Amino acid sequence: MAEDSNRFLTSISSGGGYSQVKQEQYTLYLRKLHKEFLEIWNETPETTAKISDFEKYKVLGTGAFGIVYLAKHVTTGRYYAMKMLEKEKIVKLKQVEHSFYEKKILCGLNFPFVVYMKYFFKDNVYLYYILPFIPGGEMFSHLRKLGKFEETTSKFYGAQVILALEYLHALDLVYRDLKPENILIDRHGYIKITDFGFCKLIHGRTWTLCGTPEYLAPEIILSKGYGATVDWWSTGVLLFEMSAGYPPFFASDPMRIYEKIVAGKYRCPSHFTMELKDLISHVLQVDVTRRYGNLKNGVLDFKNHKWFKEIDWDALLNMRLQPPFIPKVKHPGDTTNFEVFEEEKIKESPTNLFEDEFANF
Ligand code: AMP
Repeated sequence: MAEDSNRFLTSISSGGGYSQVKQEQYTLYLRKLHKEFLEIWNETPETTAKISDFEKYKVLGTGAFGIVYLAKHVTTGRYYAMKMLEKEKIVKLKQVEHSFYEKKILCGLNFPFVVYMKYFFKDNVYLYYILPFIPGGEMFSHLRKLGKFEETTSKFYGAQVILALEYLHALDLVYRDLKPENILIDRHGYIKITDFGFCKLIHGRTWTLCGTPEYLAPEIILSKGYGATVDWWSTGVLLFEMSAGYPPFFASDPMRIYEKIVAGKYRCPSHFTMELKDLISHVLQVDVTRRYGNLKNGVLDFKNHKWFKEIDWDALLNMRLQPPFIPKVKHPGDTTNFEVFEEEKIKESPTNLFEDEFANF
């Protein structure tokens, strides 16, 4: 028996796949990252900067609770994305807990394909998260501009998403908001996942309804308890959307989208390769016990799938593969890869709003 399994492992390695042994070694590395994350999670990081340390420039994007600006750290001259969340909106939408989670999670993240928190602070009106500025813009804009990606491009991005989710899940985090708008392209052409507003530390299951309609997993819609499986479902939706140019479950009315999702019925465009169709069929499985990522081989089912056979996973992790596209970035504070947004009036208050709710921020 042992000999047989050894032969199997050797043949996988020689075929260029990702062996079980390699995966076990990688799991040890992820465990170390988990330990480091928990150390930061269990301490209360101190406020590390203040608003006067930054010069604010253009708006990069907007979210449910606030706005993201390009900002320059005055003394270092470095550029950052300054995410400003309005305390009043957070309280009204009952998202105080999520905002604490987002801060704590961002502070502990350390992986090539996700953003992290460089500084944070608060004032009378807003909470501030200062993240590295990722100048290539949203995958969403590039995808809409091109219509759809070549499969080699989807593969390059999809493989990084899989490594990023594997990392987050190893930290017991469920991301819950995978979509092209939340995937940024860095100046080298690699991805960085941003927006951890729905991300949660979960031991076991959770029940909250959150995410984006087209990307919601059936178990969320059906109000079943769920865990990391929902991120694998949305990976299937993303793999489809990147190569098709539109998502697999699509309608103008969200209720119609949900019906299609729980029925698990979608149609791949005829230009999809057999390998991509096969992979998607294993991921967009309504039954979680049959869904890739959630089977006994875990992430190895992705890493060893034939659609990914050209991917050298170690080289990818070390950013040694040639990206399919390098964004044009003329200088470190170049915002031309982002849409143009209206400036918003920054609110001020002589008193510290919602002081008690955010006392521990
Ligand atoms: P969020 O509220 O975190 O989803 O951010 C809203 C938008 O701001 C994103 O979709 C991006 O377009 C932009 N954004 C967020 N974080 C960054 C970042 N680190 N670098 C550049 N742009 C960002």
